[in-house]
Amino acid sequence: MPGWMRDDHKALAELANEFFAKECAPNETRWAQQQHVDREIWTKAGELGLLCASIPEEYGGGGGDFGHEAAIVDAQVRALAPSFGGAVHSAIIAHYINAYGTHEQKLKWLPKMASGEVVAAIAMTEPGTGSDLQGIKTTAVKNGDEYVINGSKTFITNGFLCDLVIVAAKTDPDEGAAGVSLIVVENGITKGRKLEKVGQHGQDTCELFFDNVRVPTSNLLGEEGPGFRYLMEQLPQERLIIAVPAVASMEKAVELTIAYAKERTAFGKPILAFQNTRFELAECSTLGTVARTFLDDCVAKHIAGELDITGAAKAKWWLTEQQNIVADRCVQLFGGYGYMAEYPIARIWTDSRIQKIYGGTNEIMKEIIGRTL
Ligand SMILES: Cc1cc2nc3c(=O)[nH]c(=O)nc-3n(C[C@H](O)[C@H](O)[C@H](O)COP(=O)(O)OP(=O)(O)OC[C@H]3O[C@@H](n4cnc5c(N)ncnc54)[C@H](O)[C@@H]3O)c2cc1C
Repeated sequence: MPGWMRDDHKALAELANEFFAKECAPNETRWAQQQHVDREIWTKAGELGLLCASIPEEYGGGGGDFGHEAAIVDAQVRALAPSFGGAVHSAIIAHYINAYGTHEQKLKWLPKMASGEVVAAIAMTEPGTGSDLQGIKTTAVKNGDEYVINGSKTFITNGFLCDLVIVAAKTDPDEGAAGVSLIVVENGITKGRKLEKVGQHGQDTCELFFDNVRVPTSNLLGEEGPGFRYLMEQLPQERLIIAVPAVASMEKAVELTIAYAKERTAFGKPILAFQNTRFELAECSTLGTVARTFLDDCVAKHIAGELDITGAAKAKWWLTEQQNIVADRCVQLFGGYGYMAEYPIARIWTDSRIQKIYGGTNEIMKEIIGRTL
């Protein structure tokens, strides 16, 4: 158990483990085919207190800290139930509202997000720009007491099922980063196709279109203009919530591969009897231990409010890189079965790839670190 885990974190981890193993894992194949989870799973998660765990109780959340969010995501990976998009909803989007929303906005949106009545998404990326967010083209033009929003967003997690989207839009197109605002949109969104991905098939990822969508100005989060700064401020947590499943996934891959290597025989003996298999697994297991130690240090720092942008960038790039290295080496030890979608190791491998890309690509992480050298 990580050092930062208190009894309340452990209790939540157990509850989450049961939820993902019983309510999610058996549905994963069907969810992958339909490219989204069932809508009801959100309210089930809400009933159990698995949504918005680190949002104050005053706003319907669990009143916990980042450790509670990490415990839930870790349990999700261990249960081999990758499709539920609760991490983005709870650990990222709810925190934008909690950090920049007014008391009224928080009362309006957070309790419904905590119950699962409202599914949330965040829309920054556009077809023409992802890493370079200053270049977004979506506009929100003020018209009386409304914003009129036009533009398109892509690759949006929870986009198909969402009821609420935080949209990054230019309220002042003449300004670069200084003209970006965050606006909560609840109605009028046109949902495009569910995107066919290489992995994470059951997690809905969608295009969203905004065609003269009218939103009350009271849906602006924080002030007009500093949206880019808000995005930067929330990024450490966003990056850490990607690093958490990276390590859980490494540990799960090693666990599955050890079990397989004991059972699978070749040349009259279990493949674990070959020195190469033992050396591969010894190295993967060591990487897992180093990764776990680094991650736990980052989580403990973040709970204490001490993880900076650079530290989170280091965790995101390095841990997701190791995740992919370990997944690939474990697939190799499964031989042909490692390439079969019905084998969890194959899904761990395909699901891992995106981790190096979203939440800021690993190249951008190195840029961030490089600037501080
Ligand atoms: C499954 C999935 C879920 C996602 N969920 C969301 C979501 O919920 N909300 C959302 O807003 N977005 C989401 N994204 C988008 C994701 O964050 C972007 O894809 C990512 O930030 C990269 O942007 P891009 O795809 O436009 O790549 P680009 O920015 O075009 O980058 C292409 C390549 O150029 C490199 N590059 C770019 N700039 C530099 C630089 N300065 N130095 C060195 N290399 C550079 C990149 O690292 C990359 O290798 C999701 C994406 C996927 C695939």
